[in-house]
Amino acid sequence: MRYERPTTLKAAAQMLAKEKGQAFVLAGGTDLLVRLRTGFIEPDLVVDIKGVAGAKTIQKSASGFKIGAAVSGAELGEHAALKKAWPGVVEAANLIGSKQVQGRCTISGNLCNASPAADSVPALVAAGAKAVIVGPKGKRTVAVEEIPVGPGKTSLKKGEIIESIVLPARKPKSGDAYLRFIPRTEMDIAVVGCGVNVTLDGKGVVTKARVALGAVAPTVRLVPAAAKALIGTKMDKAALDAMAAACSAACSPIDDKRGTREFRIKVAGVLARRAALIARKRAGGR
Ligand SMILES: Cc1cc2nc3c(=O)[nH]c(=O)nc-3n(C[C@H](O)[C@H](O)[C@H](O)COP(=O)(O)OP(=O)(O)OC[C@H]3O[C@@H](n4cnc5c(N)ncnc54)[C@H](O)[C@@H]3O)c2cc1C
Repeated sequence: MRYERPTTLKAAAQMLAKEKGQAFVLAGGTDLLVRLRTGFIEPDLVVDIKGVAGAKTIQKSASGFKIGAAVSGAELGEHAALKKAWPGVVEAANLIGSKQVQGRCTISGNLCNASPAADSVPALVAAGAKAVIVGPKGKRTVAVEEIPVGPGKTSLKKGEIIESIVLPARKPKSGDAYLRFIPRTEMDIAVVGCGVNVTLDGKGVVTKARVALGAVAPTVRLVPAAAKALIGTKMDKAALDAMAAACSAACSPIDDKRGTREFRIKVAGVLARRAALIARKRAGGR
């Protein structure tokens, strides 16, 4: 196995594109190294992107935040402006693993690992985040929800690497939240996860909303019907009931030892309701 640590993404993309065997990007390694050490993968090439210029930075601009692909969960949690603008995204990223894992794990890695239960992904999808991709054919930008296409599978082509995740600039009176259900108090995989992002007008009426669910389908699911149920309302009981019903209807989960289908469908609605109320509070609503 070859280990490379290039200093540009262009070089990294070329290395990955040229490799005839199994090649992987290494960000934090909290998924990749576990799979390697347990024998699930036997890479011919591992390309560490932590030495790439800009990969460890969070840039704030008028158009929002650009989060480099090697920024760790802990670094996201220490960024005051990001936390203020996108508390739901940061709380989702900070739920990943333990203190040790937080020092390494990245949201790009969480996205590219393509687990349906990835914690940061529903929050990123609700936020309308975009992934900037660098590859042998240049750069392209896609909505985050277009990256995972099934458990463990992404839409990235050979040689493509996520350079950064971009969060839009925050409109006034906006808030987001992420909640997950796990059987233990920490260090567990979401049985259901839900991210909600809302913008209110001066009277507290929802003008924009995005709702996304994790762990209830093969990929994280954006639920436009749930957003529609909130828009134009002050999130009264009827609106929240309609949103919860839309979330439950959008689920096509599996049965496993951590939760039955019925349980996941029910919990999706419950979590969405709770996350929506937190998002509204953060947006300055009642
Ligand atoms: C003890 C433990 C607890 C965990 N708890 C949670 C949890 O609570 N919630 C949760 O969601 N996850 C959890 N995880 C899984 C893991 O920590 C996360 O998925 C993490 O965000 C992965 O990020 P990483 O940077 O370490 O990815 P890596 O392991 O470096 O990479 C993961 C995959 O993505 C690819 N990749 C990484 N970066 C890029 C890029 N920029 N472009 C293209 N491909 C890329 C890699 O090739 C690899 O296939 C846990 C893991 C451990 C070991």
